[in-house]
Amino acid sequence: MKFNCFSLIPGRYPGFEFRESIEPSELRHSLFVLVTDDIELFFDKYSAILQKIKGIILVPGERLSFEKPYENLRAVRFTPDDEPVLLPLAEILLSMFMENIKISSAYELLKMESGRTQVQYNRLLGFYESIQEKARHDIRHQNKWTIEVLLKLIKFRNDELLKSSIEDYSETVISFFRDNYFDFRGVALLKNYDSTPEIIISTGDVKEALQEKNGNKGGAGWVSVFPLTFENRPKHLLIALKNKNESLKEYETSFFLLFSEIAISTYREKLNEHALIEAKDEAETANRLKSQFMANINHELRNPLNGITGMIGLLKMSELDSIQKQQVSLLEFSAQSLGRIINDLLDFSSIEKGNFRLNREAFLADELLKKTVSLFDIPAQNKGLKLKLVNNYTENQQLEGDPNRLQQIIINFITNAIKYSGHGEITLKLDVDEEDRNGIILRFSVSDNGIGIPEEKMDSIFTEFVQLEDTYTKSRQGLGLGLAIVKELTRNMNGKIEVESTPGKGSTFSVIIPFKKALQDSDITEKKDEKKTAGRKLKIMIAEDDVINMFYLEMTFMKMGHSIDKAKNGNDALELVFSNTYDILFLDIGMPEMNGFECIKIIRKNKITTPAVVISGYTSESEIQKFMSAGFNRVLSKPVDIKDLKTVIDSLL
Ligand code: ADP
Repeated sequence: MKFNCFSLIPGRYPGFEFRESIEPSELRHSLFVLVTDDIELFFDKYSAILQKIKGIILVPGERLSFEKPYENLRAVRFTPDDEPVLLPLAEILLSMFMENIKISSAYELLKMESGRTQVQYNRLLGFYESIQEKARHDIRHQNKWTIEVLLKLIKFRNDELLKSSIEDYSETVISFFRDNYFDFRGVALLKNYDSTPEIIISTGDVKEALQEKNGNKGGAGWVSVFPLTFENRPKHLLIALKNKNESLKEYETSFFLLFSEIAISTYREKLNEHALIEAKDEAETANRLKSQFMANINHELRNPLNGITGMIGLLKMSELDSIQKQQVSLLEFSAQSLGRIINDLLDFSSIEKGNFRLNREAFLADELLKKTVSLFDIPAQNKGLKLKLVNNYTENQQLEGDPNRLQQIIINFITNAIKYSGHGEITLKLDVDEEDRNGIILRFSVSDNGIGIPEEKMDSIFTEFVQLEDTYTKSRQGLGLGLAIVKELTRNMNGKIEVESTPGKGSTFSVIIPFKKALQDSDITEKKDEKKTAGRKLKIMIAEDDVINMFYLEMTFMKMGHSIDKAKNGNDALELVFSNTYDILFLDIGMPEMNGFECIKIIRKNKITTPAVVISGYTSESEIQKFMSAGFNRVLSKPVDIKDLKTVIDSLL
């Protein structure tokens, strides 16, 4: 359809030619669409020819509405939301106008409710354009039926197709034809159309007709088939069946083409959504499996490591010549490295699963720092690095917090400082950021003269498994978990992390953590308790099926002067516990016949209150809760060293 587009408002409406004024002759000789914000003025100015011109006047307004001031003129108010589609809107209105189709239906057709956002609207635009294209064609060649079916189709697409699940999609597609609006004997979706056609879903009398057709009775009038092409191959065939010997009318064919187009494009949209949801589910499952796998690995690694460190501990207590001493200390160093990696993995998997809680105990910052720095004397020396401690908070004030976790953070920083520098100094520094009567905010920082970190990589280093060096050229050990753990620990301590770094010059990693000040005498009580058990000979029962771990525990306790009874499983342990009196029980969890869990439950059921310690490979927060509620008094995680054993005995007796 040829028509002129004019605008009496400057610079605003693309596709409309701006005019100060329009010659009456221009309006008289063709169809027109015209934008003006003063419709009264327009009517005044062209009053002489109003009966003779044909077109649509578009007026900016509050909402879309239609008026019919003259037989051959229509006025349409449009909102700013309609502006991007003003031209196609005008076109379709004009087409409908020419066909004498009720113009108010355009409102429904274009569904421009004022609430629709621009983004949604733009997404729908392509769709509407294809409909408009189709509508324009059909309006010229067909009739009102096409428009009504198109309206019905748009409503159907918005209300049903888009909302149906991918599983019910075929059903929904066919449901469109259920209300007998169409002059078809039936409509069906077929699959395997190339061999034996199989109806997936249909409406109307299709089955019977299909049988007739296959039996060559020739009763049914077949119409063309429309492949619904999903994922690049024709998946289903949409077929419509007319009554005997009838074929599809032209407008029915074009409708069917349009319908399959819309069905396919909507299906693609849904497929994308579906794929996104599936990918998300998959990622979540994978994550769960990873955590589980980590937990299992930890468990399997800790058992043998427990044996190794145990034996090293025993070796150290025996008579050794100087070479042997050196060999044992190398062994110990390697075992400790291995232990740290396993700890990182375990920590990370439990932090990731939310199985993690901080302890609260009194500690002295100065003591903690000195102890921590001394751990690195040898590693720093080996790399020719100077290690310095600068403590600006030397007060003898005990703080309340989790000293082990705090130490873990500092250890991570110092380990990295050593790892990532080849010369110079490493300084561990403690400063007071803020202090009042009850609390204090401390800043622990570790600086080095190492390789530094580029500015743009600064954020990523706290992400798990991220390492700035390529795996294959990597010259330094590590899993890329250290800083991810530090980040979580710091967050749990209500603290924050700061990093300053210059590539080639060095880095400073700081944690700033608030602590409460502890009441002064808690440490003294602890020390008194420690003295109580020193020198006492205890009677201990150990239940453990792993011979190496058993050997280690046995030897260690014997060296401490205690006497031991051994059980290989829960049953043996029960027998011993029922016929003897022990000072303390040590039970493994995973044992044949009867495990440590069942065993402690039976012991407690029989009112035996002997303190019991579980030695477990995997000790997440929830696991510890489980052990404690089963009746254990303490939980030790593997690898267990002599110090742990002493501490736990002291704390229980
Ligand atoms: P890992 O050291 O095991 O690789 P981390 O999580 O501790 O893992 O550190 C992540 C990355 O951050 C390291 O791989 C390293 O590239 C960088 N990084 C950490 N500390 C320093 C430092 N002191 N100097 C330079 N780079 C560092």
